[in-house]
Amino acid sequence: MQLYNTLSAEERAIMIDDAGKQRLTLSFYAYAKIQDPQKFRNDLFIAWNALDALGRIYVATEGINAQMSVPAENFEAFRETLEVYDFMKDIRLNVAVEQDDHSFLKLTIKVRHKIVADGLNDDTFDVTNIGVHLKAKEFNEILDDPNTIVVDFRNHYESEVGHFKGAITPDVETFRESLPIINEQLKDHKDDKNLVMYCTGGIRCEKASAYFKHQGFKNVYQLEGGIINYAKQLKEEGLESKFIGKNFVFDNRLGERITDDIISQCHQCGKPCDNHTNCENDGCHLLFIQCDDCKAAMENCCSTECLEIIHMPLVDQVRLRTGKQVGNKVFRKGKSENLKFKHSGELPETALATAQKPADIRQKIKVKKVLLGKAEHYYVKAQVGQFTIENQELNSGDKILISGPTTGDQEMVLNRIIVNGAETQTAKIGDKVTFEVPFRIRLSDKVYKILE
Ligand SMILES: [Zn+2]
Ligand SMILES: [Zn+2]
Repeated sequence: MQLYNTLSAEERAIMIDDAGKQRLTLSFYAYAKIQDPQKFRNDLFIAWNALDALGRIYVATEGINAQMSVPAENFEAFRETLEVYDFMKDIRLNVAVEQDDHSFLKLTIKVRHKIVADGLNDDTFDVTNIGVHLKAKEFNEILDDPNTIVVDFRNHYESEVGHFKGAITPDVETFRESLPIINEQLKDHKDDKNLVMYCTGGIRCEKASAYFKHQGFKNVYQLEGGIINYAKQLKEEGLESKFIGKNFVFDNRLGERITDDIISQCHQCGKPCDNHTNCENDGCHLLFIQCDDCKAAMENCCSTECLEIIHMPLVDQVRLRTGKQVGNKVFRKGKSENLKFKHSGELPETALATAQKPADIRQKIKVKKVLLGKAEHYYVKAQVGQFTIENQELNSGDKILISGPTTGDQEMVLNRIIVNGAETQTAKIGDKVTFEVPFRIRLSDKVYKILE
């Protein structure tokens, strides 16, 4: 039985494109007593792998924390795999507002000591005694109350690109560090102020609110489902956004735009920019903000040192790395003296620029298409292509896309099709179909139907 990934990220990306199916990016968590996390993990892997669900999931004896990408058509079946467990009946799934079919390219389920690295000693306080959950509308209302103190329980690199107006944004690397800082800062307001907190998906606030109630804060509130769910409700209910900028997320998108305000700068040139990237040097991988111009000039590196390193032969690069810890342990995550325009701690409230609408490349990805089959032959003189239908059906009048590494992406509308040698209207699975193609195509080019 397969219990681990067998495909590389690249192979998976190609498969997802070929399938041409829409995927949903979602997240959820639940605190529960799990007796055998390893068995729980394996059961989930088998169930989710069968549904082509991908993502990064942590399970522990204290529960589950999941960020995932699921084919839209398998969404209900996916929900059923959760409902098998009593503690996940009617669980809220936070579905992302912006969708990207490549948000996750592997299914990774890890058994951990905890589902969030919060570093808190749970035995000292009651983790079920949490704050009042607020929906987006209620959250907006409480922010208008002059007695409210709102705290961002995310890390500096998250709040830098987007945060709630007026929020305290602790200059921390980890959630654990922020708790005593806030406790000290607000110790004189345990009775008279509303302590209102938020994070990405709500999970960090579950613990934080219990911690602050234990510390004696009387009026503790938390944003239900975090910024992800807030953004969804804004859309559904047409509410005003009190969040400005981008919501940083831990998938390949590295951010979900909530408003068009860009509140951060390229860390290298200072131009308004809120796109995070990881340094190209495998021995660095620093997380930082880089504009397209600097990306081109610096080849996606954080510094001239890293730029030099990536041009060295691989053996030398590996030698340099030996003995060093790679990844975000080399630098503090998102902090380095090389980054001249990095801001953390107290952050501005004003937009530096307005985000442009997504470029054409995004439009192109958003074209809805379904794979029909592949090219078998091209009769150069007659300019006729022959294809095998492997999925769905093809009709005369359909708008199609022929795609391949040499051919590129070519769209055309079909007038006349010949199926198994006879002119007809429809080609079904297994049929060989020929039609006029006014450009050269290659063997194994893929043919898609474009859905309007
Ligand atoms: Zn720049
Ligand atoms: Zn670097």
